This record gives sequence, structure tokens and C-alpha cells, in this order.
Amino acid sequence: MRIFRTVLGDVPAESSGRILTHEHLLYGYPGAELDHRTVLRYDDAVGDVAAQVTSGMIAYGYGTLIDMTPPEVGRHPQFMVDVATKTGLNVVAITGFFPERMGIPYYWRRQTREELTEFFVRDLTEGMVFAWQQTPYRAGAIKIATGQESVTPKPSPVGAHGRHVHEVEDRVIRAAAHAAMEVGCGINTHIDPMDFEVTNPGREQLEILDEEGMDLSRVIIGHAFVPPQVEMMREVLKMGANVQLDHIGIPWRVDSAEELDEAMANALVELIDDGYLDRIVLSFDRWFFNPRSTVTDDDPQLANEKVDLSYMFTSWVPRLKSKGITDEQLDTIMIHNPRRILSIAV
Ligand SMILES: [Zn+2]
Repeated sequence: MRIFRTVLGDVPAESSGRILTHEHLLYGYPGAELDHRTVLRYDDAVGDVAAQVTSGMIAYGYGTLIDMTPPEVGRHPQFMVDVATKTGLNVVAITGFFPERMGIPYYWRRQTREELTEFFVRDLTEGMVFAWQQTPYRAGAIKIATGQESVTPKPSPVGAHGRHVHEVEDRVIRAAAHAAMEVGCGINTHIDPMDFEVTNPGREQLEILDEEGMDLSRVIIGHAFVPPQVEMMREVLKMGANVQLDHIGIPWRVDSAEELDEAMANALVELIDDGYLDRIVLSFDRWFFNPRSTVTDDDPQLANEKVDLSYMFTSWVPRLKSKGITDEQLDTIMIHNPRRILSIAV
């Protein structure tokens, strides 16, 4: 039987409903949890996020959300549990890390490949640790990440094994492959579109996973459409992996969300015409709650919070339907593909 390993326990994969494959219920860059200005009003935050989930997800047939927040970026098991309990949503937490230049705390940079694998496996099988305390809440998938070279982003330099992947990232990716194979879970990734200038970052991630023996059909290359590089996606798809269309309504690394949406929709049609319907998943990459210290109206990061969940069905789906995409094809992308890739056989 196949299940999703949610923070509240294993649930049958068939009960997933629609699935968002890359979201963040609570999100803060490493260190934000130490700031006087970001102290969390916990009950208000849970209530706020639960209200968004109920009106924007449950109301639209969504049943499952993969919370792709790594442990050093504010991953908060109890927060996920409380939102799940309040709403009935299946919340799947991840283990793994952010890119080396933005995350992977020093403590973990010193660990061996084997130790990192053990950490991931224990998150997935025993429960995650939060603020020095063991919790009973298990992760259900793994995140790996590369890119974002600096506070002012630039393409990644050449690192380990001649790839644009830093040394510790390389070790984390290898560790993730072994943990995924041991537990039988899927891997979803973060790439930075900035790296499109120097390489195909999805291919590089897959090469490392493949060297460790990972089944690439269980891997999703995230942010692959931002903005769409169809040839790079074809390369990734030919290797047997999947691609995630995300940042709907969110102008990350581009000037206009409208232009990005249109370009992504056209690329989606092209890949479906190529025969890749079964290898595409769909998400926003929203920040449901990000208690950061300074927010100005022109902060580009606000875009990750402003986009309304209803946008999927008021704007994005009509755009796809106008290009001939059917309800059945949408079900494949929103339900059946992520269910196949991210569920675990038990
Ligand atoms: Zn994200």
C-alpha cells in the first residue's frame, strides 16, 4: 500500500485530493528565529494560516501540502501539526537542507555523508527534533538545494566534481539519495534560475543522485520553469526525472508575474505535446506566514505572500484551458503525478 507520511501519521495515498508539492506554512531565513522583531504570536499565526488553508485549499479540492521548509529555515513541526489538526489538511514535512550559501548550519557541514543520511532517515522514521526536543512528528520527503551564491544573487561558481555545486551541498545530495533509498521516499529539489546562465542545475543534481543509485523517477526538479528553459527541462526529463511548475503569480527572478505565467503555460503545453504529461507537478511556493523584520510595500519578496490561493482557479487554470489543456490533464498534474512520485510504499 502507498501512503503519504504526514505530520499526523501515514494516510492512504488515494485520499490525497489535489496536492501542492512545494509550499511553506511558516518560513524565515536562518537566524530569523532569534530576532526580537519576529517573535511569533503563535496562536494568531496558526489561526491565520489555517484560515488561508480552509478558504484557499480545502474549498478547491486540495487535500495535501508538501511543506518544503528545511529545518534551518523555520521548520516547525508543532506548527504544521496544529494547522493540520485545525483544517484536516494532510501536511507533509521534509528533511534536508537549504543551499550551502544560505543554509546548512556549520554543525551539519562538519558531518560525514553517513551521518547526514542517518539524520535524514531518523527525521523520516522516528520524528523530527525541534529546539533540542525530540518530537513524534515524522517528515515524509527530502529536499535538496543548490544555488543563490550571495546576498546579491549571482550564478554559482564551479565546485565539487566540476559542477556548479558547492562541496557540502554535494555531500548533502549524496546523503539524501541514500536516505531516500532506505526509506523509499521521494526527493524534491530547489534550483536557482540564476544558475541557468552557467549550467543546467537540475541535470547536475540528478547526476549526483544517479551516481549514488537513486531512482530518478522519484525526483522532482523544482523551479524548473522560472523562467522556462524548455531544452534544459527536456534534458532533465530524458534522464527520467520530473519537473515542477511553480511560482504561479509570483515574479521570482523575473520582472512580471503575468509574463512568467504566460511563458510557463506555453512551455507546459510544449512539454505535454512532447509526451511528458506524466512527469509534471504544480505548486505556488507561497509563504503562508513569514514573520520577517522589515517589510516595505515594494519588497519583491512580498510576492510570495500576496498571491492568493484562489489564483490557481481564477487565473492559472483558465489560462491553461484557453490553451487546450483539459480537466483530465489537470488531474494528472495536480493529483496523480505527485501522488505517484511522493508517496511511500509500506
Ligand atoms: Zn520554496
